[in-house]
Amino acid sequence: MKTQTSSQSAYSTFLNDLNDQKVQQVFIKRVGGVSSQETRLEYRLKMALGGKRYFTQLPKTQTVDELEALLSRHQVQFTDLSDNAANTAASLVGLLLSTGALVGAFAWLSKNGGMSSLNNPMDSTGKTKARVYNNTNTSSKGKAKTTITFADVAGVDEAKQELKEVVDFLKDGDKYRKIGAKMPKGVLLVGPPGTGKTLLAKAVAGEANVPFLSVAASEFVEMYVGVGASRVRDLFNKAKKQAPCIVFIDELDAIGKSRGGNNPNGGNDEREQTLNQLLTEMDGFDGNAGVILIAATNRPEILDPALKRAGRFDRQVLVDRPDKSGRLEILKVHSRHVLMSEDVDLEVLAAYTSGFAGADLANLINEAALLAARNNRQAVMMADVKEAIERVVAGLEKRSRILTPQERKIVAYHEVGHALVGALMPGSNQVSKISIVPRGKGALGYTMQTPEADRFLMLEDELRGQIATLLGGRAAEEVVFSKVSTGASDDIQKATDLAEKAITQYGMSLDFGPIAFEKTQSQFLDNGSTRRAMGGEVAGKIDELVKQSIHQAYDTAVAILNLNRDLLERMAQVLLDEEVLEGDRLKELLAQAQMPVNTQIWLATGQVA
Ligand code: ADP
Ligand code: MG
Ligand code: ZN
Repeated sequence: MKTQTSSQSAYSTFLNDLNDQKVQQVFIKRVGGVSSQETRLEYRLKMALGGKRYFTQLPKTQTVDELEALLSRHQVQFTDLSDNAANTAASLVGLLLSTGALVGAFAWLSKNGGMSSLNNPMDSTGKTKARVYNNTNTSSKGKAKTTITFADVAGVDEAKQELKEVVDFLKDGDKYRKIGAKMPKGVLLVGPPGTGKTLLAKAVAGEANVPFLSVAASEFVEMYVGVGASRVRDLFNKAKKQAPCIVFIDELDAIGKSRGGNNPNGGNDEREQTLNQLLTEMDGFDGNAGVILIAATNRPEILDPALKRAGRFDRQVLVDRPDKSGRLEILKVHSRHVLMSEDVDLEVLAAYTSGFAGADLANLINEAALLAARNNRQAVMMADVKEAIERVVAGLEKRSRILTPQERKIVAYHEVGHALVGALMPGSNQVSKISIVPRGKGALGYTMQTPEADRFLMLEDELRGQIATLLGGRAAEEVVFSKVSTGASDDIQKATDLAEKAITQYGMSLDFGPIAFEKTQSQFLDNGSTRRAMGGEVAGKIDELVKQSIHQAYDTAVAILNLNRDLLERMAQVLLDEEVLEGDRLKELLAQAQMPVNTQIWLATGQVA
């Protein structure tokens, strides 16, 4: 092998390169003894950027697992070349879901290393996107175990709770089998990137002390038709031999997209074959055999419905961005091994980092430690953390989900507006939770209403109540700020739809009476125009009535908020402080809301007094 010149680079430079998507590939090598172990990284920039190589060192504050998670998130190929990994290469190969990754790595190492002599044409494409998930312990039997436990995952208590059952089953399957209980075969972790889905899956394996077989769905889909399907088969065969174990499929959407979509070429055959194979395998094994499949996606809506059917991924677990107290817990986890000076107040940091996912918080602590080291400090100071926040936020803003303080304030009042109007209106379901934890583009905050019972019939006043509740957000903006934002467009759309339906479908207007203008649509066919043919005059009248009912509902919402202005302020303040308002606390506050007299008249007659 020819000597290659690699330059030394700072770890933060490496992180920047990673963030800027410049990194092509990373090699991880642990050197030194148990006590003085350090992890060296050699990485290569993308060919388009000259393909230059660098050496850097993993800071002690970060584990190889965390690094690997980070690399996975950036979809960067990596390979662990640690001494012990190399020694056990033979057993490792058995674990690799795609030998292509290893071959690719060696080929790169030896630059012009005889790829052509390989007898497997599938692996010689060198196109593999496979990632090697190294496992923290590779025991002599060659089983992959992870040392991550639930203690490493914070701020996602509900998800943990749901997964505890899986752990329990893996530990003590007999208890379940004796009773005849069937375990779910598949658990689908759903949530935005960086919230800890991969970490949770590993923690399940770690808690149950069973092997963790992990693969990214994109690795299945290669250039050659049939490769994906055979890899899926392979994976399941391996899993069955190692049971009890966890099989983790990351980015399930890469193969799990709805089949027969709108691809003009009739869909991606390779992907569909792979998906079909996965479905077949899932149907073919018995969950009680001790193989539990966990998959992760941040796009559950595009998944093929067949995947969610009973006996497949029939259990979905939401892994959401953390609220303030969740962020505090995550910050605690990640500052465990970092020297923090006394002036660092994690509580304050939790308040500052609204919208950060777990991965962003981990990154934040690491950045702060790097800055502290650069400034030759003994421990991380608050100033370092604040500077780090600015850096991380700058990165996040590109993905536009951090609100300015003013935007946050508007969202808080907007949501409380929905909640207050909703609490007083008939037909509005009970408000159970208000949140202003940002949820990515589009939805800034939300007010969750839980229906008391399934409703099939809605009364006229309830319909009016719903429309007013939908407009409560916009009304609050106007009452408080005397100007309105674009944040209410979805509410307004829904309110208008409801108002129009009241007149054209439900026959609830006095002027027209019970005449349907809308042809009811088949549930399954979407066949164009749905309005009955009608004269222009009638259409104009409908529009006029829709406008009237929307305006009346809006005026009602404004009246409610004006009367309850104090309460609106108090609740908005709580929300700004804590981001989430729910349970008894919310109930008590909402119970103080008062109904204006003219609202009752409007509900009864549809006329604003
Ligand atoms: P996802 O799979 O949801 O994209 P990961 O599990 O890969 O997210 O998270 C990446 C890294 O971010 C983790 O290795 C961990 O260091 C940190 N992290 C993310 N979520 C959490 C959490 N809830 N608690 C603690 N650390 C977290
Ligand atoms: Mg992940
Ligand atoms: Zn709204």
